[in-house]
Amino acid sequence: MKLSIIIPVYNEEESLPELFGELLTTLNTLSHEYEIIVVNDGSKDKTKIVLKEFASANHNIKVINFRINAGQTAALQAGIESATGDILIPIDADLENNPADIPLLLKKLEEGYDVVSGWREARWKNNWFVRKFPSMMANKLISAISGVPLHDYGCTLKCYRREVVQELNLYGEMHRFIPAYASHLGARVAEVKVSYRTRKYGSSKYGFSRTVRVLLDLLILRFMQKYMDRPIHFFGSIGIFFFSLGLLAGFGAIFLRLYYGLYLIQTPLPTFAALCLIVGVQLLTMGVLAEMIMRTYYESQNKRSYIIADKINL
Ligand code: UDP
Ligand code: MG
Repeated sequence: MKLSIIIPVYNEEESLPELFGELLTTLNTLSHEYEIIVVNDGSKDKTKIVLKEFASANHNIKVINFRINAGQTAALQAGIESATGDILIPIDADLENNPADIPLLLKKLEEGYDVVSGWREARWKNNWFVRKFPSMMANKLISAISGVPLHDYGCTLKCYRREVVQELNLYGEMHRFIPAYASHLGARVAEVKVSYRTRKYGSSKYGFSRTVRVLLDLLILRFMQKYMDRPIHFFGSIGIFFFSLGLLAGFGAIFLRLYYGLYLIQTPLPTFAALCLIVGVQLLTMGVLAEMIMRTYYESQNKRSYIIADKINL
């Protein structure tokens, strides 16, 4: 079994030498063949030069340099596409994850899982109110919405069997949701506690805006899991609800006019009816459009809405 370590890197020149040192120490104790794929996500510091030196000294270290910063998700996707191993292991470059935990993940994977996710239990333990609690809530929310309970979606250190990730196309911030997408495609997901160290050099590349982006991606995750192959059911049912409400309000207004003599401008019902009817029609047409886009998506790429595990006598 060959391991592919995948490292997204953006301005981490100081961390890299220690990271490679630790990684190689761990990998050399394992009996697996390995490659280390470093994706330099358009760094502006000396990352590129440092990587070139390491790669020329060790041919198992492979480097992809992006021209401009494309984001951690894109960097991981590029790494996954170039990986030749059977097991893919993404890890952060900033030493927050400890490469010494890799054997733990592998051991769990060998118990028969397809995805093993790290859980940095000690993270934010000194900052309960501002960091730990919101992070706990976020992970509970993601677990509830995706149906895959994990304590630490944000932990990059994970371990995947190649088959479960090579079919995925990653967008936005969704690398953190890979376990949820994979589980939806039939993968068995497990979690192990891993150690955590605070960032030693440089600073985090993210601020608060990431929270908003992650929430939006979560919405997409939920939509894709449930309605990807039938968007009209989603938009259509809300549309029918509003349309019916609009009809009801309209009839109500007419009823009040005929039996109670209330003029249409004396109640808010006609305005409400008009609003609901418009929203209803909009949602229904949006559903039809989404349905057309979905069919183009599937049929232009010969994609199927099901996955066959195996066949007999066929
Ligand atoms: N990273 C990247 N591209 C970016 C931002 C970050 O490749 O646009 C890398 C970064 O170098 C690090 C990993 O993604 O290896 C995680 O980033 P960071 O440590 O800043 O995130 P945090 O730990 O704060 O969630
Ligand atoms: Mg970090």
